[in-house]
Amino acid sequence: MNIPVIDTRPTAAARLDGKVALVTGSTSGIGLGIARAFAEAGARVVLNGLGDPGEVERLRADLAASTGATVHYAPADMSRPDSIAAMMQDLLDRAGGVDILVNNAGVQHVAPLDRFPPEKWDQILAINLSSAFHTTRLALPAMRARGWGRIINVASAHGLVASPFKSAYVAAKHGIVGLTKVTALETAEDGITCNAICPGYVYTPLVEAQIEGQARAHGLPRERVVRDVLLAQQPNKRFATVEEMGAIAVFLAGAPSITGVALPADGGWTAH
Ligand code: NAD
Repeated sequence: MNIPVIDTRPTAAARLDGKVALVTGSTSGIGLGIARAFAEAGARVVLNGLGDPGEVERLRADLAASTGATVHYAPADMSRPDSIAAMMQDLLDRAGGVDILVNNAGVQHVAPLDRFPPEKWDQILAINLSSAFHTTRLALPAMRARGWGRIINVASAHGLVASPFKSAYVAAKHGIVGLTKVTALETAEDGITCNAICPGYVYTPLVEAQIEGQARAHGLPRERVVRDVLLAQQPNKRFATVEEMGAIAVFLAGAPSITGVALPADGGWTAH
């Protein structure tokens, strides 16, 4: 049996050179911010996510040109285990697997529990939770063989606390925090770490649309909507940025002893 030599040296950003980083759901928002941070740190980045093929290609080419990194795109549908398996097999064949796996793809639906559409429940659980199980189980053998791997799950403050009307999202995010801990325990001696980032509100196009929508719906000025509606639970009263999420992900990729952690990045939300 081949026993891999475990590399426990801290990995400065520059030392992500040559690592292959797959970021699911990285055609926009937090995923794209994390993909950019890994590209800037020298990793070879694989983007994934939905989007118009022309726009996705522009995004890919832009990221490659502005960072000098090699950037690929894998068009897998994260709601479908067969599609995920095909992507992971392709990455194994082309690159020998992934070194850094960021499970970030996620969707939301808001409705009271007794009126929550069952098909939305299934979709949210599939994309926000089961996809991470499938990518992780398929990424682990190559990580173990190399004795190095980083798995970063983008959970949410809603992985630690609940809000009404978000049953599927809160269940999926609590679930991925649990999956993070199990993965960390099972890989702890293999040079692999698994952690979750638990953001509060992060400023993305989706959040901007919510500000506009809520301002119209309540007839409130934008600043009131931000402070009293969206950031009602968030003590620091400001949105985090996707660049900050990227920096946290790169930090976790360079920290061999941090594993099994659900790290709040929520401006104090879960300190309540
Ligand atoms: P976003 O809508 O900007 O990005 C979501 C990404 O997931 C997109 O690239 C989209 O194409 C992709 N995606 C959706 N369904 C997919 C599918 N079936 N297959 C492949 N890709 C799919 O959202 P975001 O705000 O950047 O959220 C990213 C992650 O961060 C999510 O898991 C979300 O729950 C989490 N999060 C976001 C916030 C926030 O305030 N924005 C806060 C906490 C956690």
